[in-house]
Amino acid sequence: ATARRTPEGGLIKVESDSTKYEEEGIRAKYTDRGADVVKGADGKFTVKKTEKNYEFFTKSNVGKVGLMLVGLGGNNGTTVLATHLANKHQISWRTKDGLQQPNYIGSVVRASTVRLGVDPETGKDVFVPISDMLPMVHPNDFVIGGWDISGVEMVQAMLRAKVLEWDLQRQLIPHMQGVKPLPSIYYPDFIAANQADRADNLIPGDDKQSHLEHIRNDIRQFKADNDLDSVVVLWTANTERYADIIEGVNDTSDNLLKSIKESHEEVSPSTLFAVASILEGVPFINGSPQNTFVPGCIELAEKHQTFIGGDDFKSGQTKVKSVLAEFLVNAGIKPLSISSYNHLGNNDGKNLSSHRQFRSKEISKSSVVDDMVAANHVLYKTASELTAESGEVTKKGEHPDHIVVIKHVPAVGDSKRAIDEYYSELLMGGRNVMNIFNECEDSLLATPLIFDLAILAELLTRVQYKSLDNGDGEYKPLYSILSLLSYMLKAPLVKPGTDVVNSLNRQRNALEQFLKACLGLEHTNDLLLDTRIW
Ligand code: NAD
Repeated sequence: ATARRTPEGGLIKVESDSTKYEEEGIRAKYTDRGADVVKGADGKFTVKKTEKNYEFFTKSNVGKVGLMLVGLGGNNGTTVLATHLANKHQISWRTKDGLQQPNYIGSVVRASTVRLGVDPETGKDVFVPISDMLPMVHPNDFVIGGWDISGVEMVQAMLRAKVLEWDLQRQLIPHMQGVKPLPSIYYPDFIAANQADRADNLIPGDDKQSHLEHIRNDIRQFKADNDLDSVVVLWTANTERYADIIEGVNDTSDNLLKSIKESHEEVSPSTLFAVASILEGVPFINGSPQNTFVPGCIELAEKHQTFIGGDDFKSGQTKVKSVLAEFLVNAGIKPLSISSYNHLGNNDGKNLSSHRQFRSKEISKSSVVDDMVAANHVLYKTASELTAESGEVTKKGEHPDHIVVIKHVPAVGDSKRAIDEYYSELLMGGRNVMNIFNECEDSLLATPLIFDLAILAELLTRVQYKSLDNGDGEYKPLYSILSLLSYMLKAPLVKPGTDVVNSLNRQRNALEQFLKACLGLEHTNDLLLDTRIW
């Protein structure tokens, strides 16, 4: 069992009438300022300022937190456990460059900072790590467990992954000895046929209802065995094919539960894990691209007011793309095409070499520039402008061509190579070609995101809000779909009917602003008026 530690956070004390520090947590008033914009028939915009008043309550006791990974024996799963153990036991290792210390580089929560304000004496900005903003679990304190259809012990699984340096692996072996993933569920139709030889650690039978109960029991047992206050479940198992959305099968929560009882073939393992987590009241995050969250699953989470987040870790190429595409479009430059090639040699790449699994990844990667394009109708004509221009009904607005190719090249192992070409229109018909060659260990990018997702999901379970305007006075949990996790996810799941934000900057601002709101702080914007006036 992991030693309990005082949670991080609590370093910041807001002195204000609207922020109260109580025994149980932090109570803070926050005014959400926005604008309603109406476009008139004359093409003019009328803007009305809006103000909505809320109170947030953030429980400060983090407790002991469990992290259960589906796919524990994979490259990400083993790297998460290894990173946690190396940090917890302060294991350093020799490389050809010298002694390497363990760290959490790449974690937004642990390794990035927020500008809190200005030191009145020096006039200099003051920054704090995100982990100091509110009480959050330290990743060294997670109790980590989970499932895998491959019954290989964690030591062997870490060796199989070939991600970490041998001198580290060697020292981790005693800490991992004997640890084996729990048996899992395997419906061969959902992942690539080339995974079949790994599947030797299975929950018996093919009855989906009893599989659901088995997983629920595993979560309860893990909680009890480790004396946990809370658990987060996260899917980092193979990418599945898309599930068909079928009326009467997975379109509503009742139908989905009925389909599980009837062992309907369109219920995927990942949806079953999500349903088990929802019914156990624990957050479930989907780190792969498939449509785990079928409409019935989303409705179930809403009904139970539990948390879900997804889809697909945003680790490398997409993260760069969402920054670069935004930079180009916001610079007034018009990308005409974005062409992406990837090759990788790990088991993820092997699974993605199968068409239906690749298709899930392709969908997830394809919409990442949509909102930036839609935000700039100066560069990209809208469907109605195109219709007016040509006289023919055009349903889709202008959009850059965008392709994604993924190939499995075993030799490069976990070190994924991503090649992107950005082809853009410049002033007076000019053209610009920009090529990015991005090479990195896939699992070393995904692992810190897994910690961030789990840390933030746990934090958000402790935040409640109430409206101060339409005063029923009741505190509520946040809405079930945790779109605040979008920064770490390639195809962010958002509240149905609301816009997806892919811009990495806006996603980070949202997270930062939310953490500040929980402390009753306004967002420190970049107006920096003091520096612009006399
Ligand atoms: P991996 O193939 O090494 O690991 C996946 C593990 O899941 C395997 O050990 C496999 O046996 C297990 N598994 C498959 N089906 C299972 C089931 N039903 N229940 C339990 N275990 C099951 O892959 P990885 O590199 O660790 O990546 C994991 C997932 O994360 C992939 O879907 C990948 O697309 C996604 N992802 C990874 C990154 C990254 O940068 N590494 C980025 C985005 C998304």
